[in-house]
Amino acid sequence: MSIATINPATNETVRLFEPLHKDDIREAISSADDAYQQWKTTTFQERKGCLNKFAELLRADENKFARLITLEMGKRFSESQYEIEYCATIAEFYASGAENFLADQPFDVDGAEAYIRHEPIGVVLGVMPWNFPFYQVVRFAAPNIMAGNTVLMKHAGNVPQCAVAIETLFADCGLPTGVYTNLFIPTEFVETIIADDRVRGVSLTGSEPAGAAVAAIAGKHLKRSVLELGGNDPFIVLEDADMELAIQQAVKGRMVNAGQSCVASKRFIVVEEIANDFIAGITEQMAALQLGDPMDADTTLGPLSSEKAAEAVRKQVQSAIDAGATVVLGGDRPPREGAFFNPTILTDVTSDMTTFDQEIFGPVATVYVVKDEPEAIQLANHSSYGLGGCVFTRDTQRGRRVAEQIETGMMFVNQPTKSQAELPFGGIKNSGYGRELSHLGILEFVNKKLIHLG
Ligand code: NDP
Repeated sequence: MSIATINPATNETVRLFEPLHKDDIREAISSADDAYQQWKTTTFQERKGCLNKFAELLRADENKFARLITLEMGKRFSESQYEIEYCATIAEFYASGAENFLADQPFDVDGAEAYIRHEPIGVVLGVMPWNFPFYQVVRFAAPNIMAGNTVLMKHAGNVPQCAVAIETLFADCGLPTGVYTNLFIPTEFVETIIADDRVRGVSLTGSEPAGAAVAAIAGKHLKRSVLELGGNDPFIVLEDADMELAIQQAVKGRMVNAGQSCVASKRFIVVEEIANDFIAGITEQMAALQLGDPMDADTTLGPLSSEKAAEAVRKQVQSAIDAGATVVLGGDRPPREGAFFNPTILTDVTSDMTTFDQEIFGPVATVYVVKDEPEAIQLANHSSYGLGGCVFTRDTQRGRRVAEQIETGMMFVNQPTKSQAELPFGGIKNSGYGRELSHLGILEFVNKKLIHLG
């Protein structure tokens, strides 16, 4: 992929960027490693000062950064503003919590003193996607910087201005040169970085093929990896659900970021008793969405991130239709400039269709009608993915019972899966491994070193 800002609302190429050469990469790794030798000796207080300043700078120029997000990947401006605010919260969460999360952990074994000490491991590489171009970077960089690691970042090729803005923010908040470095590189250079002895780990958020490729390289070079890949999250509606709430949350959960979120609700699994009401409710609300310029406050559904992304969704939807799925709403792209896709509802998608087990990264809800709770659980688990999910019921104990039986990394009762700094985020199966955010996120790339004082 070329490195360029292309406004997906108009498909206009705004700016092109030059990729780095291999020699530049070696220099960047040396600089990150030199910085690590110093940075690992700094106190939590010093690191905290930088990250709190980072949060302050983000908030001070929230609209400027939010505009960049909207320009490069088409997110509605109010959602971009929210993303910036959330990044500031994550930075502050790790600034204030890291010392506690990484405190020594004592063991009492046979009367001898023993403890785990959490030490940084070195330079770590992030390979990040465009869908939340600030958040994906910050949730990886903030805990690692607080842990004493230094960060190299290969961001997605379609959000270069966001990538530069984040690097500038990390410099302006007082981090020494080399603690955070943005790399404009094609994907082929990722192996050179992971193979380098000084680079100790890699975290990738993105598609399954990208995750599998990077994990294979990491395995070959015996480097630690964390993968946060796609999802096909079930949204289960039982017959005793608060229907108004379920409908409203279904539309919200599916339409977040124009449907381009790994934890967007994607498969709506609804018991037959209430299926007609549910489908009628979401159809009414999704049909009322206003497609348009993502900078316009009246727009309730912006474009997808690129022409390629919109075409990918179109092909997935068409493939389901060709195989016999029923279109309740939408089903195609609108006749206008830009990477838009109409809000779409499909029913009658069956497990023999290719689309059934694919992540659809766009405003497309697939509704499955099931007989009862056991069938809902069975269908929810019939997926190669296992990221998030949710269940709607007025009975909390029932919600807990269902949630405990779903094979995902996160389950919510009466709300779609969400990301929150204090809560662990991550999946199982083909959705990846490892956890981000919370105290678990900072423990991924540290040496949990045992000291035993015999
Ligand atoms: P990718 O997985 O291709 O991109 C994510 C990041 O990985 C980018 O930085 C990309 O670089 C990089 N990358 C891609 N292939 C490799 C590789 N072989 N080695 C090293 N790095 C690599 O996502 P796409 O943008 O192509 O989106 C495709 C689909 O992936 C979406 O439709 C969606 O289903 C899923 N996806 C899921 C996300 C999530 O949050 N879970 C986020 C984004 C996508 P570059 O940009 O230079 O290609």
